Amino acid sequence: MNGSQHSKILILGSGPAGLTAAIYTSRANLNPVLVHGPLPGGQLTTTTEVENFPGFPEGVMGPDLMQLFEKQAARFGAKIMVDTINKVDLNTRPFKLSSDKQLYTCDALIIATGAVPKYLGLPEERELLGYGLSTCATCDGAFFRNKTIMVVGGGDSAAEEALFLTRFGSQVLLVHRRDELRASKIMRQRVVEHPKIKPLWNRAVAKIHGDKKSGVTGVTLKDTVSGKTEEVQTDGLFIAIGHTPSSQLFKGVLDMDENGYIVPKPNSTLTNIAGVFACGDVQDHVFRQAITAAGTGCMAAIEAERWLESQHA
Ligand code: NAP
Repeated sequence: MNGSQHSKILILGSGPAGLTAAIYTSRANLNPVLVHGPLPGGQLTTTTEVENFPGFPEGVMGPDLMQLFEKQAARFGAKIMVDTINKVDLNTRPFKLSSDKQLYTCDALIIATGAVPKYLGLPEERELLGYGLSTCATCDGAFFRNKTIMVVGGGDSAAEEALFLTRFGSQVLLVHRRDELRASKIMRQRVVEHPKIKPLWNRAVAKIHGDKKSGVTGVTLKDTVSGKTEEVQTDGLFIAIGHTPSSQLFKGVLDMDENGYIVPKPNSTLTNIAGVFACGDVQDHVFRQAITAAGTGCMAAIEAERWLESQHA
């Protein structure tokens, strides 16, 4: 280890939540240190065009938007570091977080580590993400007006995405590996009764067709009962098989729900440990939008600032 450094506020994560917290706390002269892993910018860096972030009437590329966030945080003096925290001790203050290289201590901690969508594990997914393949209907649905759209999954997320996508697509194909949805009863009913949604039961995506130039053009589906394969044309493919919140470091330390999402106190970013705040997708399985993540990042910054003031730190 190369030594230690102390900051009043340490922020983990460089998506919209973490960087907004960095903008607010640096403008409040709290000299925050923001640590992020090897892939900065969070989920927006894996999307192409973002059309629903306010202030960009012509749209903005996801990675460009995150660079602007970072530039704004750096302007006010936020120190941004690339490192992988692998150990935390929140039992005593200052809190201690360490990587293989360094020990970080802080008076207040803002956790904005986000969540990662689950993927099917097919090699084409990486290439086609942002080119017809998406994990967010709210973000990308509007690109598929009057087109055929396919959604994969059988839970509430898949049901919600499929229903939302009926606003745009001429038809929504819902591919599920069993013959019964896991989604809640009301969502199941809405899905099966919707005239635009066609469920394709007992099917798994075996291969995705397309390239960066043409986008997704279709998939090979495998019948999970008979093993037979078929080719199905689609213009868009939405993978909605769940998300994994990046909260493993805090398991057993912070209050979480059964899926590993940190549960802050109602209408706040306060966790069960005083001085530790959670914002963005690591505590939100409902909205998962850049703008809502940024909003909770702002809340965490203000709550951390007020808490530090109350501690005379
Ligand atoms: P989920 O409930 O875990 O469902 C994941 C779905 O994807 C399941 O149907 C699963 O199939 C399927 N799946 C998983 N891995 C797969 C793979 N490799 N290939 C093909 N299919 C795969 O996840 P979720 O839908 O994201 O929901 C997560 C939690 O958030 C749930 O508690 C849900 O109720 C909640 N949620 C609530 C709302 C709401 O209230 N508005 C909206 C979204 C989510 P099997 O069924 O065969 O396992």
